[in-house]
Amino acid sequence: MTSSPRAWHAESKAVHPPVADVTGSRPLGVPIHQGHVFSFDDPDDLAAAFAGPGAAFAYGRLGNPTVRTLEHAIAELEGGAGALATASGMGAINTVLFALLRSGDHVIAQRSLYGGTMTVLGDLAERWGVEVTYVGGDSADEVRAALRPNTRLLYLETISNPTTRVADLPALLAAVRYAGVVSVVDNTFATPLLCRPLDHGADIVVHSATKYLGGHGDVLAGVVVFASAELQHTVWEHASELGANVDPFTAWLTLRGLQTLALRVRRHCDNALALATRLAGHPAVAAVHYPGLPEHPDHELAGRLLTGGHGGVLAFDLAGGREAGHAFAGAVRLAALAPSLGGVHTLVLHPASTSHRRLTDEQLHAAGIGAGTIRVSAGIEHPDDLWADLEQALGRAG
Ligand code: PLP
Repeated sequence: MTSSPRAWHAESKAVHPPVADVTGSRPLGVPIHQGHVFSFDDPDDLAAAFAGPGAAFAYGRLGNPTVRTLEHAIAELEGGAGALATASGMGAINTVLFALLRSGDHVIAQRSLYGGTMTVLGDLAERWGVEVTYVGGDSADEVRAALRPNTRLLYLETISNPTTRVADLPALLAAVRYAGVVSVVDNTFATPLLCRPLDHGADIVVHSATKYLGGHGDVLAGVVVFASAELQHTVWEHASELGANVDPFTAWLTLRGLQTLALRVRRHCDNALALATRLAGHPAVAAVHYPGLPEHPDHELAGRLLTGGHGGVLAFDLAGGREAGHAFAGAVRLAALAPSLGGVHTLVLHPASTSHRRLTDEQLHAAGIGAGTIRVSAGIEHPDDLWADLEQALGRAG
């Protein structure tokens, strides 16, 4: 058998096309490295590639150049030591929880979290023997009182879903700082443009990159950002076992979305405030939940914590309850009736029958969700067109 590529048989040449190096210039866009496997000349170099998250690339589940570029980009935005990209936001959340928790551990979690996160915490309690204590997002004393010798993790969301409560991150994170507790903040709703939880003392930030980071409704992805390289290494080791990795093309789409994140977030915030203000004056609306409104319970805190806007998500309660909610959801035309949020399209949702359907009435009430609550993810369309659409839908719901 010959070792000269030119003398190889067609079967071998077909499998081994020459792989070109890019020399003398740099691609401005990030290349997509779709391959999942990388070869080495030296066995010691291959062995070293299994060492950790910054090592040479060997196998896609351990790392990939396009994915790593995304990880670096988001770590930079969040001010972290490193990041880990995953196949979804839930992939990020499960990777963190299963990497750090074991049976017998205790978790303190905010009461009004994303429904999927609540379900995982419920599962951990029921099937894996992890105890969970739920707290509000505003009292450091309540968090301090919930601490136990076996408390391992504090789990918060910067802005909660769908009631847009803002967590007092500086106070809550300070309450556990010296207690050996790892603090995790889901920063999906705020994005690093409005808040950087690591700056306030969080150990880990998670994102559903499906939302604002990707931003165009074409990506399902997640990311975990770490304050320290040690935590990154611990979670990375587990992540390579779990296999919830993002694929390179999705990482590339997310990087492409990131390029306009700052522009989009500004517009999402402006549109959300415009809609919240108009909804607050409409007779069919009983209450509006948006931290940009002065009557929101966390308005003052949001002013201190969020820089440059109050987010793109708002919720409102229809005076007519469940029936009105159903009628409104079926009447929107420019806004789309759909789950998800954080993209360029304005989306509306009736949480009680969709994202939070697994919550009991008691849990729904505790999370501040009513039968007639509608969540709006403000897109980047013209605010007058959006208001005209919501106004006509309110007319049908009234
Ligand atoms: N975190 C928050 C705040 C969310 O709103 C969502 C999804 O809506 C998730 C996490 C889960 O993300 P994904 O759907 O990408 O798994």
